[in-house]
Amino acid sequence: MLRFAPSPTGDMHIGNLRVAIFNYIIAKQRNERFIVRIEDTDKERNIEGKDREILEILNLFGLKYDEVYYQSHNLTIHQHMAIKMLEERKAFACFCSPEELEAEREAAKKAKRAYRYGGKCEFLSDKEVLENEKPFTIRLKKPKKPVEFTDIIKEKLSFAPDDIDSFVIMRADKTPTYNFACSLDDMIHDISLVIRGEDHVSNTPKQIHIRNLLGYDKEIEYAHLPIILNENGKKMSKRDSASSVKWLFHEGFIPEAIANYLILLGNKTPDEIFTLEEAISWFDLKNLSKAAAKFDIDKLRFLNREHMKMMDPKDLSRAFGFADAAIGNLVKCYLEEGSTIKEIKPKIEAIFSAKPFDTEWEKEMKILQEAMKSAPLFDSFDDLKKYLMKKTGLKGKNFFKPLRLLLTGTQHGPELSYLYPYLKSYIMEIIK
Ligand code: GLU
Repeated sequence: MLRFAPSPTGDMHIGNLRVAIFNYIIAKQRNERFIVRIEDTDKERNIEGKDREILEILNLFGLKYDEVYYQSHNLTIHQHMAIKMLEERKAFACFCSPEELEAEREAAKKAKRAYRYGGKCEFLSDKEVLENEKPFTIRLKKPKKPVEFTDIIKEKLSFAPDDIDSFVIMRADKTPTYNFACSLDDMIHDISLVIRGEDHVSNTPKQIHIRNLLGYDKEIEYAHLPIILNENGKKMSKRDSASSVKWLFHEGFIPEAIANYLILLGNKTPDEIFTLEEAISWFDLKNLSKAAAKFDIDKLRFLNREHMKMMDPKDLSRAFGFADAAIGNLVKCYLEEGSTIKEIKPKIEAIFSAKPFDTEWEKEMKILQEAMKSAPLFDSFDDLKKYLMKKTGLKGKNFFKPLRLLLTGTQHGPELSYLYPYLKSYIMEIIK
């Protein structure tokens, strides 16, 4: 089973989406289930409605999931397991107050060494524990030897016991920490491969250590994806608007192009332009570069245009808020003039809006408008052109400029003969 485990704490980042896409692809390739686990245990940071937004985005990308779980539903299992760890003396109760821990942290900072728990509560006697009425957290005892695993992208990694540390698995309010909940749920859901961002790489030995202590012997594979850098070579953060999937939609990028771009990024692929379905036939995590990949919006713009070219006219029409395939074909005529829905939509809307008669061509536009009102419906632009020229006596730019304004609302654009086949069934609406 593969899983995508987003926290409902903010807008979906392209890094999260990339993780979701890769999990989906591998699930398809291996014929395993793909689940979504909403990691909602950090109540303070959860944002109402973000879970639904994430699921909607997955749907828009065609990333079909078999099931949605909410991590909080497993709370009692998490609590029971923490108690079991205590009883088996694999964990210990820690009564250190937040202030004491903060002081330890400060001291480590001053001495320029990495912070590690001082170990004060690890060896308390049963009596000392039972008689203490202060709130306590539960800490797991650190491992005795290094925890090693082989990451599909980063290869062999080893973490010393001190780097894993005696970390907290249950907070004083009896909610599990991220590492504890995540590790248990990966077990409960029988996950076979975890694909996630490399910011989680130091969590992995902790999660493996938890499962080792519980005697879970199924090996879970890991692939930690390199981060995505912004155009200045810095880690892409919330402050980079292009990192938000919602922003990309707002800017008029389509899911097919965004998915293509995120699969292409830092990868060796047989083609540059492909669909998600095609990627399932050749995608291999081993081809991903170990180095961080740089986000390039121009490449995304190029792919957006290519995918609009390939799109079924009816679907393209829908993406522009229309229903008729003719509008999709009309959009395709405008692909040299823009790369995104946002850039092209005003041009399509101008065709169907009231026309700007207050130009130097006002007189000619009115003449052409009258002539067209009584004209038969011609199949080809050539026939219409001949008819109108004869009827109005206009020619050259006195004919073409006002005709273009009347039909498209602007002075420049694709050849009218290209546009006409898709405009003709709306002609009365267009010239009115
Ligand atoms: N909830 C974590 C996040 O959004 C994901 C952790 C994981 O995939 O294990 O970063």
